[in-house]
Amino acid sequence: ADAPLFGVQPGDISVSFEFFPPKTEKMETQLWEAITQLAPLSPSFVSVTYGAGGSTRERTHATVSRIIRETDLVPAAHLTCVAASKAQIDEIVDRYWEAGVRHIVALRGDPPPADGGRFVPHPEGYASAADLVAGIKARHGFDISVAAYPEIHPDATSAEADLDNLKRKLDAGASRAITQFFFSTDAYFRFLDKALAAGITAPILPGIMPVTSFSAIRRMSGNTEIPAWLEAMFEGLDDRPGPRALVAAVAAADLCKRLYDGGVRDFHFYTLNRAEQAYAICQLLGLRPKEIG
Ligand code: FAD
Repeated sequence: ADAPLFGVQPGDISVSFEFFPPKTEKMETQLWEAITQLAPLSPSFVSVTYGAGGSTRERTHATVSRIIRETDLVPAAHLTCVAASKAQIDEIVDRYWEAGVRHIVALRGDPPPADGGRFVPHPEGYASAADLVAGIKARHGFDISVAAYPEIHPDATSAEADLDNLKRKLDAGASRAITQFFFSTDAYFRFLDKALAAGITAPILPGIMPVTSFSAIRRMSGNTEIPAWLEAMFEGLDDRPGPRALVAAVAAADLCKRLYDGGVRDFHFYTLNRAEQAYAICQLLGLRPKEIG
């Protein structure tokens, strides 16, 4: 009865953290507070997203460059095919390579929300993430990560077609996949089984999103099912940010614990540039900062 709540082996997990490039000085300060707090957990890499429509090209670059200059962290720059010719993508990846960046998260991307609708390739650009991976690999020896969807990408014609697409991206030279966030561990483990059956042996890191706002989550979720029990956990907390943050941490920690029990040891956190949730979950999973680890 006195078994520990988390019952994990201290120190046997590894993590990575995703950030987005800040728009204002205030957001920049917040991002760097988060990076400073999370860095002692020795993430295997930290990734920086690329705004819809390529809108953050310079800001992603600036953030990744500052991580290289000021920390020992390994940055991964997200890059999409949206609104860029192959020549423009070449220029971007050359600049990253020269700046010392060695890891790219290669994505197709989506049209900016204002444009709505479906992805339409640039006339001289890449038509899919798999093509982008091949293009980047042909240019430089980057380590490449790609996206995966345990609950299927909305544009996919079937689960099998989506899995074939993931395989194409890995065959083109990507070395791991990171999943869209999910709340059903069953969906994730079923996806891993199917991937293995399809011959995919590359790591598929679960993307963990500590939910703090359901309106934001619904906007981002695509096909990800938001279970009724999860929403019920947050009932009545809209105007109570303190308890809401604690409940969010418990819900995400519970998800991670179930993944851990299923054998998962690598976790990727969508931090939204805040350290507290991710840090607390890592702590519960037995990870300790370098100074005391
Ligand atoms: P793809 O792998 O190209 O696949 C998109 C869809 O098209 C899939 O349904 C696939 O099955 C289908 N498809 C592809 N090729 C073919 C083909 N030849 N024939 C038939 N069907 C095909 N977006 C951003 O704008 N910036 C970011 O920084 C960003 N980071 C992300 C990080 C992660 C971990 C994840 C999971 C997503 C991220 N996204 C980001 C969102 C992503 O850009 C969208 O989900 C986009 O709609 C799909 O990108 P993809 O790389 O998965 O595309």
